Amino acid sequence: MIKLHSLRVYAFSIRQIHSQIAIVGGGTAGLNVAAQLIADGHAIPQQIRIFEPMKMHTYQPGWTMVGGGLYDINKTLQPMEKVLPKNVIVSDSPVTKINPEENQIQTFDGQKYTYDQLVVATGIRTDFDQIKGARKYLEDPNSPVASIYHYKYASKMNRLVDEFEGGKLVFSEPQMPIKCGGAPQKIVYLSQDRLRKRGIKFDIHFYKTVALIFGVPKYAEILTDVCQRKQINCHFKQKLVEVQDHIAIFEDQDTKELKSVTFDLLHLVPPQVPAKFIAASGLGDAAGFCNVHPNTLQHIKYKNIWSLGDCSSLPTSKTAAAVMAQTPILVKNLIRTWKKGLEPIPQYQGYTSCPIFTSQSTLLLAEFKYNSELDETFPIFQSNESRLMFYLKKDFFPFAYWYFMVKGLWGGRDGFRFFKGA
Ligand SMILES: Cc1cc2nc3c(=O)[nH]c(=O)nc-3n(C[C@H](O)[C@H](O)[C@H](O)COP(=O)(O)OP(=O)(O)OC[C@H]3O[C@@H](n4cnc5c(N)ncnc54)[C@H](O)[C@@H]3O)c2cc1C
Repeated sequence: MIKLHSLRVYAFSIRQIHSQIAIVGGGTAGLNVAAQLIADGHAIPQQIRIFEPMKMHTYQPGWTMVGGGLYDINKTLQPMEKVLPKNVIVSDSPVTKINPEENQIQTFDGQKYTYDQLVVATGIRTDFDQIKGARKYLEDPNSPVASIYHYKYASKMNRLVDEFEGGKLVFSEPQMPIKCGGAPQKIVYLSQDRLRKRGIKFDIHFYKTVALIFGVPKYAEILTDVCQRKQINCHFKQKLVEVQDHIAIFEDQDTKELKSVTFDLLHLVPPQVPAKFIAASGLGDAAGFCNVHPNTLQHIKYKNIWSLGDCSSLPTSKTAAAVMAQTPILVKNLIRTWKKGLEPIPQYQGYTSCPIFTSQSTLLLAEFKYNSELDETFPIFQSNESRLMFYLKKDFFPFAYWYFMVKGLWGGRDGFRFFKGA
């Protein structure tokens, strides 16, 4: 006969599933960390558990190209099981709490898990509802409101620009941080070029919540010229707070006065926020981002917790390019501290990049690191708009992502990682 106390032990072991490495989030960052841990021989797939509720993996950098009429939306989506490393363990209930003192994770379905090492990679959530009325008009197929910050609304943007017959276009950019700070202006330039080619009459207004066109002086100068040449009217310190029928309401960031602006087409970008559980679990900085050391990516309080990508406190622009630079450093430091008892190396200097489409055939590749310092790979092509950089971004980067990044073989600007073993 089975004794009652052994039943209890059995029930307890079901509720506390242990993983050596737990990764919360199976987006660009979580996927890349898992793939490199395996590719570099540090872990076998069965030692890794990924917490990810989404069934589709999204290549979000492709959405600007979708909205800009350069790319098919289907090329930006892949079923999760196709991109996750084979045999990693997946939990599809969202994480709701981490108890870092107990090395414990709790998910929405009530299940509890424990870990030796934890990587927090939950990205940043688009919060369309912070703009009153936005959701209603975005969802309405007959309303001229779209956004490249969602795959559905990116396709809508493409259709709206295709069907546009002339008039006033309004583009907005919210308060930072957002993923890919350059994307709100890329879609301005792409749309302008499409309409110019069709020879119709239009008038473009770009409303930014901040006071600058771009945070790095060299690129700001080039982009100011681009706006002047394309006759784009820039309005600074203006935050979109509400959308009504063909009316956008902006709040002046100095005076707090509200101003109504009419439009025939509105492209909006939602404010973005980190997952709430990060702060609720005592892992967040003042803004709720996972609080890690800016050079080692180790949590400032918990030595077995790591973070990278959009949900991290790393004070750099939130991009997939930054994730590619962060991943090998995080992986190396996690293994050094865990397996070898060594201190992490403070190697990450904030590298990020922002490929800015300036037309349907040119691109300005911005690359920089902490404190907005330039960190260029191809300086000769980065002092102006380049055709070569355009094709690199449009065709090569997606190829590298789907064929090499997901296998842990893509090192971003360090190129292929074939020879970078354990
Ligand atoms: C329109 C647009 C254009 C862009 N352009 C570029 C570009 O040109 N170049 C570039 O380098 N980058 C670009 N980016 C940014 C890039 O896509 C992101 O920086 C990158 O995806 C960040 O990776 P991440 O893993 O941190 O976040 P994500 O890729 O967003 O992944 C986060 C994952 O965490 C999961 N998750 C969230 N909460 C939980 C939870 N509670 N429990 C479990 N899982 C959870 C989510 O489901 C998601 O799969 C662009 C982004 C957008 C939207």
